[in-house]
Amino acid sequence: MLLGQEYLYTPGPTPIPDRVKHAMNQPMIGHRGSKFPVLLEDVANRLKPIFGSENPVTILSASGTGALETAAANTIGENDDIVVIVSGSFGERFATICEAFGANVHRLEIEWGKSCKPEQLEDFLKSLNKKITAVIATYCETSTAVLHPIKELGEVTKRVADALFIVDGVSCIGAVPVNMKEWNIDILVTGSQKAMMLPPGLAFVAVNDYAKEHIKKHSSNRFYLDLNRYFSSYDKEKSTPYTPAISLIYGAQEVCKMIEEEGFEQVIERHQLLMNMTREGVKAIGLDLLTSDEDASPTVTAVVPKNSTSGAITKMLREQYSVTLGGGQHKLKGQIFRIGHMGYCTPFEVLKVLNALEMTIYKLEGQDVLGLATKKAQEVWINHV
Ligand SMILES: *Cc1c(COP(=O)(O)O)cnc(C)c1O
Repeated sequence: MLLGQEYLYTPGPTPIPDRVKHAMNQPMIGHRGSKFPVLLEDVANRLKPIFGSENPVTILSASGTGALETAAANTIGENDDIVVIVSGSFGERFATICEAFGANVHRLEIEWGKSCKPEQLEDFLKSLNKKITAVIATYCETSTAVLHPIKELGEVTKRVADALFIVDGVSCIGAVPVNMKEWNIDILVTGSQKAMMLPPGLAFVAVNDYAKEHIKKHSSNRFYLDLNRYFSSYDKEKSTPYTPAISLIYGAQEVCKMIEEEGFEQVIERHQLLMNMTREGVKAIGLDLLTSDEDASPTVTAVVPKNSTSGAITKMLREQYSVTLGGGQHKLKGQIFRIGHMGYCTPFEVLKVLNALEMTIYKLEGQDVLGLATKKAQEVWINHV
């Protein structure tokens, strides 16, 4: 294979546009000088429509898990009753984080591969009959490629529990619609390396005024992740309390420009197309999908192979075609593989991955599936209006 040609289709990290790489190469500046506040304020505001946030978005140096921990550290205390919707490994991770802060975590377990229906949350909250501090949901459960109905879950959270509604949007924010006010989301977090087209290293936290008040009064021990320090540094000097990942923030500024140029509505539409092409293509070569059309995420697709193991498929894709996909996690290990199609991803990228998948199935299973997935995906693209 041509040296350096790697095709990355994992559900994070994802490819970085050249424009963003160049933007990150600007000369270093000090975060207490005059340029950084202009940069930070610009990015914090330009991120607002992407998060559907009324407030500027807070930026920390951490991976996505750091963003989840920030949300927990600033709102959840010892013995608080917290409901976490667990439909895969990232919901489980958030539940474990809450336990680390001493919360009583009530897990609403949803079958892996399915979304949480609003009635399920409503019944669960009513059955607990407790004062719940927060309900935590994952917008896209990356491990199963499911998109949850966040708007409906937010409505139930407020009506039934009147609790904080905290959403992990790590693998979809930047590619999907969201409106914190209309959807009753108090805190929405993501990381940089998935749909945001950036390298790993930034955690984005959008907080509404209601949650800000809660965070101000919250007394649990925390230091680096204490959002109050970030809010006051931003309010006073448009800076951060500690040295920020300045290069990545330059990159984030370029990402905002790219999204504005394409138009955020169009970005959302493109991801729908990528999802439809991937799903129809996979089906056309006789493989199954883990999720229903209704529950499917526009950013990642989970495939259930039939005759070969997922390990054999991903190994051949990697070794012979330099195509990297995601495997299954935890109880889905070995049962599925996942194709990431988010961020810097075009319909041509989907054709590439389907092309390599056809050749892999051809070689592993001796079935002449050449051209089937790509043809179907091309048809989906042609018919897309
Ligand atoms: C990737 C991911 C995370 C964790 O992010 P890291 O950057 O690996 O710490 C959390 N939640 C979801 C839904 C994710 O997809």
